[in-house]
Amino acid sequence: MIPLVHPILGREEKKIVAEVIDSGMIASGTYVERFETEFAQYCGAAHGIAVSNGTTALHAALLACGIKPGDKVLTTPFSFIATANSILHCGAVPVFADIDPATYNLSPEAAEEALRREKNIKAILVVHLYGLPADMDAFVALKHKYGCQLIEDCAQAHGAQWREKTVGSIGDAASFSFYATKNVTTGEGGVVLTGNADIARRVRQIINHGRDGHATHTMLGYNYRLTNVAAAIGIAQIQHLPAWTEKRRANAAFLTGKLRGITGVTVPLEAHGTMHVYHQYTVRVPADGREAFMRHLQSAGIGCGVYYASAIHQQPLYVGLGYAAGICPAAEQAAREVVSLPVHPALSRRDLTAVATAARSYFTQET
Ligand SMILES: *Cc1c(COP(=O)(O)O)cnc(C)c1O
Repeated sequence: MIPLVHPILGREEKKIVAEVIDSGMIASGTYVERFETEFAQYCGAAHGIAVSNGTTALHAALLACGIKPGDKVLTTPFSFIATANSILHCGAVPVFADIDPATYNLSPEAAEEALRREKNIKAILVVHLYGLPADMDAFVALKHKYGCQLIEDCAQAHGAQWREKTVGSIGDAASFSFYATKNVTTGEGGVVLTGNADIARRVRQIINHGRDGHATHTMLGYNYRLTNVAAAIGIAQIQHLPAWTEKRRANAAFLTGKLRGITGVTVPLEAHGTMHVYHQYTVRVPADGREAFMRHLQSAGIGCGVYYASAIHQQPLYVGLGYAAGICPAAEQAAREVVSLPVHPALSRRDLTAVATAARSYFTQET
C-alpha cells in the first residue's frame, strides 16, 4: 500500500533527541527556545512561542488577541474541526462564511457579507487549507475596513507563501501544528507566531498558567507548554522543510500533469501569487462516484482520504448549537466531492506513477 501520509524521521532526529536525554532537561529548556527562534525566523515573524499542539496554539492565539466569551469570530466551515472548536474554547461564537470552491479557502466576498450582516465580529480566523494560502490581501483589507483582528491557522501550510510573505507572518497572530501527519512534525506540538510583542507576551503567560516573568499569576492560564524532547525533533525537522516542500511541489506538478484535462477530475489550483506547499493533493470528483473511485484506488494499493467529509457546521456538535444545513453550500458540496491522493516527500517516482495511473484509469478506462 502506498500510504497517504508518511512522517520522515531519521538520524538527525535520533541524534538530537539523544542530546536532550543526555542533558537531563526533558521538559522546558534551550531546545524549546531554539525551536521557537528558528521556526519564527523561517517564517519571517518576530516572535515564536512553542506550545503543546495546533489546537492549543489556536486557543492561545485567540485569547492573546483578546477574544472573550460571547465575541463573534468569523471563520471557514471547511477545515479540521479544531479551527472552529478553538473559538468555542474561548466561549466565543463561530460565524461561518462560505468558501471559494476553486481554492477551498474562505471566500473574501462571503466573509465581507458576513462582516456587514453580523455586527461586531472581533476576529477573522483564516485557514490556509491543504497548504494553499488564503487571499491575504483581501483579508488584510477586511481587517482594516472592519477593525477586527486577523488570525491565521497555518496547521497545513508550513512555509507556504502569499506573494513575498510566508504565511504566519501576515495576520496579528498565527498558529501551526506539528502533529505527526503535518508537513513537519514533533509528534504532537504547535507554535504561535506574531509580530506583536504584547500578543507574544500574553501567549507566553496563557500557556504557562498565567504566570508573568516573576512567578506571579495575573490571569487564568493553562499548561500548553511543549517539551524539550519534542522541540528537538522540531529543530531537526525544520532543516528538512525546504527540500521536503520542493518534493511535495514536484510531486503535485507530476500528478497534475497526468490528471489535468480528464473529464470528471478537478485538479488543485495554485492561485496566482501563491506558493502552495501541498499538505494534501486534493482533487474533486463527482459526488456519486467518489466512493467507487476511492475503492478503485485502494484496490490498486493507493492510500487516499477525504478531508473533510462534512463541513464543520454539519457536525452533530454544531447542529446541536443551532447551525443550519445549507448556510455554506460551496463548503457542503466540497465535502461531498473531495479526495486526497498521496503527495508526501517519501514517494518514489514509481509510487507517483502508480498513483497517477490508478487515478487516471478510473476515469479513462486505461489500464
Ligand atoms: C491539524 C490541524 C489543527 C490542529 O492541530 P493539532 O496539532 O492536531 O491540535 C488545526 N487546524 C487545522 C487546519 C489542522 O489541519
